[in-house]
Amino acid sequence: MIEIDGSSGEGGGQLLRSALTLSTLTGKAFGMFNIRAGRPKPGLRPQHVRAVAAAAAISRAEVEGAAPGSCQLIFAPGSIRSGRYRFDIGSAGSVALVLQTIFLPLSLAGSASSVIITGGTHTPMAPCFEFLELHWMAMMRRLGYSATLKIDRAGFYPEGGGKIEATIRPAGNPAPISLTHKPTLKFIQGISTVANLDFQIAVRQKRATFFHLQSVAPSLCIKTTELQSPGKGTALVLLAHYLLEDGSDVSLGCFTSLGEKGKPAEAVAAQACQEMLEFIHSPGAIDPYLADQLLLPLAIIPGRSELLTSRLTPHVISNIHVIQAFLPVEAQVDGQAGSPGRIRLTGIEIA
Ligand code: AMP
Repeated sequence: MIEIDGSSGEGGGQLLRSALTLSTLTGKAFGMFNIRAGRPKPGLRPQHVRAVAAAAAISRAEVEGAAPGSCQLIFAPGSIRSGRYRFDIGSAGSVALVLQTIFLPLSLAGSASSVIITGGTHTPMAPCFEFLELHWMAMMRRLGYSATLKIDRAGFYPEGGGKIEATIRPAGNPAPISLTHKPTLKFIQGISTVANLDFQIAVRQKRATFFHLQSVAPSLCIKTTELQSPGKGTALVLLAHYLLEDGSDVSLGCFTSLGEKGKPAEAVAAQACQEMLEFIHSPGAIDPYLADQLLLPLAIIPGRSELLTSRLTPHVISNIHVIQAFLPVEAQVDGQAGSPGRIRLTGIEIA
């Protein structure tokens, strides 16, 4: 049994979710102790319990300790089974983080799966739906993974109640990737959206985005939309698309800002634009979020991948440590937390 100290490194939910993914992929059982020990509310939160339940459902795992507040968990997976699954996070817990936990195992399951997840689609400190579909999944397709994602309704903090559907098909022949320089910036795409609030907020977010980014973007295309949702919320999602040699474009940076009570539309826009400007002016070729989210997929693609991220985060370092607890993957990280960083990782084929 692999033992993991849940307080090591970044010490948050990602450590657990990555261990769940790697355990179901490799069939190796793990025990985690000190789960989220340094956090204000230590132990498993309801959304982590749901992630454990989802990983257990697709791998018929035996589980001990999966209850809210628990600081220890034992997870022993069986074999992965594709199928039709439905997971209800029951709060505004992120649907994206649960989907990412089970995505790789279901991609390698041999036949397609259909997954419905209800919970938060636009919540702080997690990928929002547009990031998931237009950025993460777009890059996963380039790597050789295959899925269709759809949003039925949005779930904002604190109500949640969003719903997404994913059809995950068997991966083709995933290939390693090198993302170490930015080609020419082609355009910035934006989605400025509201749910059950004055549509003018979306218009103001869009107007403020033009103010901040007009001078750096060759073209700026911001769509204002209204989302169906049981709750209220606003979001601004910005994607930087770069021109590839074959004439196609690729999104390399995606930044989101969410509205909240007392936060003017202009402040929502300024936050996402600030992150976008830092990215555009940095030597890094991919944003810090995608950098940590690509490590697991790359770890199971045989061959050497290389990423230059605009900002090295503790999530990257921690994720590499969890990967190496399960797989003999070689990895090297150069750079300092908070600054641009280079990640070299040689993935291996898993049986
Ligand atoms: P944790 O903090 O351990 O729960 O992990 C959070 C995960 O959400 C990491 O994979 C982050 O890259 C991702 N994440 C956090 N904020 C954002 C964001 N604004 N956009 C996209 N992904 C994010």
